[in-house]
Amino acid sequence: MSILLTTLNARYTHASLGLRYLLANMGALQEQTRLQEFVIGAKATEIVERILSYSPKIVGFGIYIWNVEETTKVVAMLKRVAPRVVVVLGGPEVSHETHEQEIVKLADYVITGWGDVTFPKLCGEILHGPKPLMKVHAGVQPPMAEIKLPYSLYTDDDIKNRTLYVEASRGCPFKCEFCLSALDKTAWPFALDSFLAEMESLYQRGARLFKFVDRTFNLNIKTSLKIMQFFLDKLEANPDDPVYAHFELVPDHLPDALKEGVSKFPHGALQFEIGIQSFNPAVQTLVSRKQDNQKAADNIRWLTTQSHAHMHVDLIAGLPGETVESFAEGFNKLWALAPHEIQFGILKRLRGTPIIRHTQEYGMVYDPYAPYTILANRDIDFATMQRLVRFARYWDLVANSGRFAHTLPVLLGELPFQRFMAFADWLYANTDATHRIALERLVAMVSRYLQTQGMDKADADALLATDYSGGAKAKPAAEATPAPKRQARRLAA
Ligand code: SF4
Repeated sequence: MSILLTTLNARYTHASLGLRYLLANMGALQEQTRLQEFVIGAKATEIVERILSYSPKIVGFGIYIWNVEETTKVVAMLKRVAPRVVVVLGGPEVSHETHEQEIVKLADYVITGWGDVTFPKLCGEILHGPKPLMKVHAGVQPPMAEIKLPYSLYTDDDIKNRTLYVEASRGCPFKCEFCLSALDKTAWPFALDSFLAEMESLYQRGARLFKFVDRTFNLNIKTSLKIMQFFLDKLEANPDDPVYAHFELVPDHLPDALKEGVSKFPHGALQFEIGIQSFNPAVQTLVSRKQDNQKAADNIRWLTTQSHAHMHVDLIAGLPGETVESFAEGFNKLWALAPHEIQFGILKRLRGTPIIRHTQEYGMVYDPYAPYTILANRDIDFATMQRLVRFARYWDLVANSGRFAHTLPVLLGELPFQRFMAFADWLYANTDATHRIALERLVAMVSRYLQTQGMDKADADALLATDYSGGAKAKPAAEATPAPKRQARRLAA
C-alpha cells in the first residue's frame, strides 16, 4: 500500500465525503490507496502509530478548521519518526493564506482548492517521477462530469452507523463575506440522473439518512423538486421504514412549486438548515449578503406553520456593524417565527474570506488560533462578546436540546434575547461553568433562577416537571407560548 488518505473528523458519526471523493478519483493508483479516518481528541501518538502500520509512502491529510491544531501535532510527530513519508495536505483550511501556516511548513506538498484530479496526479509524480518542484499546487477544477462519484465507497458500516453526506452540486453563487463559499462565485451541479442513481443504490443498501451539503439546495427549483420527489417516492413505497433528508436552504427563495413539494413530506422526514445570519439590512449590505428579509420571514413562517419540516435557523453574532441591540432585535424576530432550533453562532474569520476588509474600520479582533472566533469589535467589547459566547452555549443546552420545551417560553417571556441573556449571566455567575453541567443540576438551576424572578418553588418545579412528562421534546419552543402572546410576537416580526 503506497498512499493513505486520512483526516480527523469532528465526530465518529461524520464520515468524510472529501476523502471518499479523492479515493474514488485515484484512477490507476486506487488499488494502492487506503482510507483511514480518526476523530479529534485521539492521542497523536496513537494516530501516528496507526498511520505507520500501513507503511505508506504518501499520507494525504484533509485539513479543516476543526482539526488543524491537532493535525499539526500529528504531522509534526509523523515527520519526526518517519521523515521519509511524504505528507500532502489539502482541504479548505490550507487552501488560503497557505504559506503562513505552521502545518504547511511541516508538510511536503499542499493542494489548494479542488483535489479530485490534482491529488492523484501529484501522487503519481511523487511515486514515479518526475519529482514535483513546487510545494503548493493549485487544484485543477475538472468538468463535473469527469469527477467520479464516491458513494459506493460508503461501507455497510458507514451506512448503518454514520451520517451520509451527499452533494448534488458544489459552490454557491452568493458572496456573503464571512463564508468560504463566497469565493466560488457560482454553483456547479453534478449530472442529476447519475447522482440520483447513486442515491438509489445507497437507499437499496439500507441508507435512510441523507445529509445534503449543497450550499443552496433551492437554487434550481427543477433540480430540488426532482430530488425531493426521489425521497417522496421512497416514503410512499415504504412508509414503515422512512427515509430522512437534510438540506440547506436560502430563506428568501421558496416558490409555490417547492412549497407544494415540501408540504407533502410527513413528520420526521425532512430537515432544513436555513441561514438568516442577520436581520439587520445595514449589516447585510456591509457583508454583501443579499437577502429579502420580509420574504425570508414569510417563508420561515410558512414552513413552521404549513409544513412538517424540522427547521434549524442560523444567526451569527459579531458581524461588522451589528450591535448587541440590533442582534437582539433579529433574535427576537426569529424567535417569533418559531423555528425548532435557533443556531446562535459567533463569527469566525475563516481563512480566505473577504470579511477581512472590515477589520480596521470595525475594530474586528479575532482569536489567532482556529477556529478564529471573534473576540471583540468596534461595537461589542471582549467582555460582552464572552457573554454572547456563553449565551450560545447555554442556548444549546436549554433551548436547542428541546429538554425545556414548556419552561423555555416562561423563561423568555416577551423579550427572549434580553431574558435569556440575564439568565445566562446569572447561570454563569452561579456555576462558573459552561460545560459539564449535568442535566439534573441544570434543571435545579433553572428552577432556582425562576424563583429569583418571583416564581414559587413549587410552581417552578411543577413547570419543569412538565418537560419530563413526555411529548415535549419535539415541539418548537415558541409554539408552547400562550396564543395571544405568540400572536403579538408574530405581528412584530
Ligand atoms: S452564507 Fe450561504 S448563501 Fe452566503 S455565500 Fe455562504 S453558502 Fe452562499
